[in-house]
Amino acid sequence: MIYFDNAATTEVDKEVIKTMIDVLENTYGNPSGKYYDQALKANKIIEEAREKTAKFLNSEEDEIIFNSGASEGNNHILKGVALENKGCHIITSNLEHNSTLKACMDLEEVGYEITYLKGNSLGVISLEDLKKSIKSNTKLVSIIWANNEIGSVNNIKGILQICNEKNILLHVDATQMVGKRKIDLSDFKIDFLTFSGHKIYGPKGVGVLYIKRDRYGLFPDLKPLISGSQEDDQRGGTYCTHNIAGLGKAIEVLENIQNKYIENLNNLEGYLLEKLEGLPLTLNGYNKDSKVPGILNIQIPGVNNEIFIKENSEMLALSTGSACSLSKPSHVLENIGIDKFKIRNSIRISLGKKNTIKEIDEFINILKKYI
Ligand code: PMP
Repeated sequence: MIYFDNAATTEVDKEVIKTMIDVLENTYGNPSGKYYDQALKANKIIEEAREKTAKFLNSEEDEIIFNSGASEGNNHILKGVALENKGCHIITSNLEHNSTLKACMDLEEVGYEITYLKGNSLGVISLEDLKKSIKSNTKLVSIIWANNEIGSVNNIKGILQICNEKNILLHVDATQMVGKRKIDLSDFKIDFLTFSGHKIYGPKGVGVLYIKRDRYGLFPDLKPLISGSQEDDQRGGTYCTHNIAGLGKAIEVLENIQNKYIENLNNLEGYLLEKLEGLPLTLNGYNKDSKVPGILNIQIPGVNNEIFIKENSEMLALSTGSACSLSKPSHVLENIGIDKFKIRNSIRISLGKKNTIKEIDEFINILKKYI
């Protein structure tokens, strides 16, 4: 089986599985419990994962909140900032993940004003457009870092500078960026960052929300999405110890191999591009100068994407776009200007650490049969 759907989810690393099984078997105590060994051991596991995550991002440990994943993180920030700032204006883009777009639509329904910046044909937003859309009551800008369907990378440094000048909070969905480029939050003083365990060879149902503390150690004004007393009152719910331990292990493994991982993805993508070059195909939104390695979106003229995927389902796994909105034509492709017929000819290839040159050759052979 050739697995080319790593942007949808990744295989769980063997070390991660071992860690999780060990926790499930041996550390069932509630990490919030006190004094007895089982609880203290569970709490230690949570805090070790937090330490690894903070080190990986170069943030403080008390800026890391564990949750169920990036969808929750995105909803948390958008709704949490909105609730705390009644009637505020929020800026996002039309190339975001559905968890962001739908959270914004929920807010619109109850009266908030949202501006959806238009991405260009390469899948990035313009800093000029951002500047022009700012209003006196703009409180939050929420922008995806690396796009999950075409891999394009937004200029977060430029966006941050504008937000800082105007005293606006910045939230970044880094789900597809983590691992594929180094992230150093001591350099990049954004306010909120979200990502997910299952895109970095960790388990599903667990993610990270980074919230910057100010120089007095305080979080920005923000309501929790799930009220309760865990995570410094920011995220209620009993800690999912095995998932958090698995996420911590996934981060540790990733950090150890990151340079090689990036190099390997670059090489695989370069090889795939070379092979595609000779074929009558079009790349969708291929942002050569600013993209993460490993995500490509191609149009195969005359071939229906769903039929292609179904016909090859036993030996090939890839997708028509975001796994979270497969039933509808991709809004990302539509918003970078691809017409709806060509969207039906488009597939996303997303590579991961286990993929090989041989698999790319095999994939090209399959493609050639259709062309
Ligand atoms: N944002 C982006 C960019 C994503 O790719 C995804 C996963 N498809 C999410 C958010 C949602 O992540 P999760 O599955 O952890 O809710």
